[in-house]
Amino acid sequence: MPTVPRRRRSPAEIHAAQAVSGERKVLLAAPRGYCAGVDRAVIAVEKALEHYGAPVYVRKQIVHNLHVVTTLEEKGAIFVEENDEVPEGALVVFSAHGVSPAVIQSAEDRGLRTIDATCPLVTKVHKEAIRFAKDDFDILLIGHEGHEEVEGTSGEAPDHIQIVNGPEDVDNVTVRDPEKVIWLSQTTLSVDETMLTVNLLKERFPTLQDPPSDDICYATSNRQAAIKKISPSSDLVIVVGSANSSNSVRLVEVALEYGAKASYRVDFANEVDESWFEGVSTIGVTSGASVPENLVHDVLRLLADYGYGDVEEVVTAEEDIIFSLPKEIRATLKAMGDSTGGVGGRGPRPKR
Ligand code: SF4
Repeated sequence: MPTVPRRRRSPAEIHAAQAVSGERKVLLAAPRGYCAGVDRAVIAVEKALEHYGAPVYVRKQIVHNLHVVTTLEEKGAIFVEENDEVPEGALVVFSAHGVSPAVIQSAEDRGLRTIDATCPLVTKVHKEAIRFAKDDFDILLIGHEGHEEVEGTSGEAPDHIQIVNGPEDVDNVTVRDPEKVIWLSQTTLSVDETMLTVNLLKERFPTLQDPPSDDICYATSNRQAAIKKISPSSDLVIVVGSANSSNSVRLVEVALEYGAKASYRVDFANEVDESWFEGVSTIGVTSGASVPENLVHDVLRLLADYGYGDVEEVVTAEEDIIFSLPKEIRATLKAMGDSTGGVGGRGPRPKR
C-alpha cells in the first residue's frame, strides 16, 4: 500500500534552496508503462472476477506491480504462492510470467479450474525450449535464477536447460557437445548485458546457435531504447515500477549506463525524495511494463509542484501490439455473447 507522504518543503522553499539556473524540465520517455502481455493478464483477472465472482485465486503476482496487485485484491482476487493454497475445485489464474508443466499438473491433480494468463511472448520461449530439447540441444537460458519466468521456462526441459545469470556465469557453463548448443533468454533482460553474455559464450562455444527470434520482448527493448535516448540529457531519471519488476530495475541500470547522473526507482510518487532535485534541471521519467499510467501522472504532478512542469514527451517507437485474451476467458465471453476478445494495452500511447 502507498505510504503516508512525509512532510515536504513547499515548492517556493525548494526553488529557493536549489542552486539551479535556467529552465527546469521533464523528458518523458515513450513507450513506457503497460505492455500488451500485462494488459491481457490484468484484464483476464478482472474478467474472471466479473464473470465467475470472487474469490478468484491467482498463483504468484499476476504482474510484478504492487499497485496492480493491491487493486485486484480489493476487487476479490487472492494471491497465493502455490496451487496447494487454493481450495480444491476453485479457479486459479496463472500469471503473465508463465508456469512449468509441473505446476499445470499439480493444478490438474487438485481439480482446479485454470486460466492461463502467460504472456504469448513467454509461451514462445517455452516452445523454443521444448523444440530444442526434443532435438537434444544443450540450452543455455540467460536469465535470473529464481525469477518466475525462468523457473517456468526451465521447467519445460530441466534436463537440457542450464541457467546463465549473466557474464559472470559464463566460465561455469559445461555442455555435452559444443556443436549442439543454443542460447535462449528471459524476456525482460537488459539488451546490452545479454549480448555481452552471448558474446562471451560464443568465445567459448563458437557454433553457439542464436534463438530463432529475439527472446527479449518488444516492450522491454522499446522501453530501454527510449530511456537510452533521454538519459544523456537527464540529471536525474525516475523509473516508476516495483522492486521485483525485472524490466523496471533494468531501466534504472540502463539510465545510469547511458549518462543519467542519478536514477531511482519508485513504486509511488510519495517515494520521490526532494533531495534528489538539488542541482537538477532536467528529469527523465519512465515506467516499467507492468505500471499503470496513473502512477506516472502522480509523479509528473509532484514534479510540477517542484517547478518541473514543462514536460516534453520523447517518442522513440510506436506500439500497437494486441494479444487476445486467454482462451478460457474467450470461451466464457463467447458463451455470454460478449465479443471482447482482444486487448492491446491501457498504458500510454505514444504520440502519433
Ligand atoms: S514485458 Fe514482454 S514478455 Fe513480459 S508480459 Fe510484457 S510483452 Fe510479455
